[in-house]
Amino acid sequence: MVAAKFETRAIILRTAAYGEADRVVTMLGASMGRASALARGARKSAKRFAGGLGMAQEGRAILRERPGAELLVLEEFDVEQVHEGLAGDLGKTAHAAYALELCERLCPPRQPEEPVLAWLSEFLMLLERGRARAERLRVFEIGLLRRLGLGPVLDRCAVCSRGDLGTGNVRWHPDGGGVVCPDCLHRGDIMSGSTRRALVDLADMSLADAESMALDRETNAGCRHALLGLLRSHVSGPLRSLEFIEKMGAG
Ligand SMILES: [Zn+2]
Repeated sequence: MVAAKFETRAIILRTAAYGEADRVVTMLGASMGRASALARGARKSAKRFAGGLGMAQEGRAILRERPGAELLVLEEFDVEQVHEGLAGDLGKTAHAAYALELCERLCPPRQPEEPVLAWLSEFLMLLERGRARAERLRVFEIGLLRRLGLGPVLDRCAVCSRGDLGTGNVRWHPDGGGVVCPDCLHRGDIMSGSTRRALVDLADMSLADAESMALDRETNAGCRHALLGLLRSHVSGPLRSLEFIEKMGAG
């Protein structure tokens, strides 16, 4: 039986040392979704993977399936975007690490996620060019959730569907799918009307538009809290890169 070889555009989400000479590279690929691959000799020979297989690198991967094995083999990785500009700035490094971790933790294995790959690619490109901004991160978070079919209900009550939520407070119920009106839920996080309306705007915004949009401190904090609650409801265990962002006060 000949193992299937294929080529796909991919972004490196994470790498880990494996044995003395190899690396295991976790990637998000256009045709394969999230998958891990063994890069033989990646730690020993600089020739084999000339780009160094760094986090956030984007390029064309040539991969081989191994019959009966979950781990693919990475034969080649032709780097097209190194995203060098992310490395020199701690805030940018933190935002990139967080975006990569979210994709790694939220994307199901081996399920093509082309819109997610495009979203991550654009986010990294804009982050590299500009500053590490909370607004871009909020749009990325909610856009990622939506592209994975996990977007929250924001424009009506997730329980009774009433749409006249206006400017008043609502309850935020991540496990229940989004916002809930005060008649349906009397417990849980209170979300202000301004936070809810900001989330409605963020959910429809392109990453390019986020570059010129500004959230005041309080609204950003409300959106951040709500989106983190939702993200955490979909991952098990802590988000490692989040601590880095919190320490820097960069999110
Ligand atoms: Zn309701």
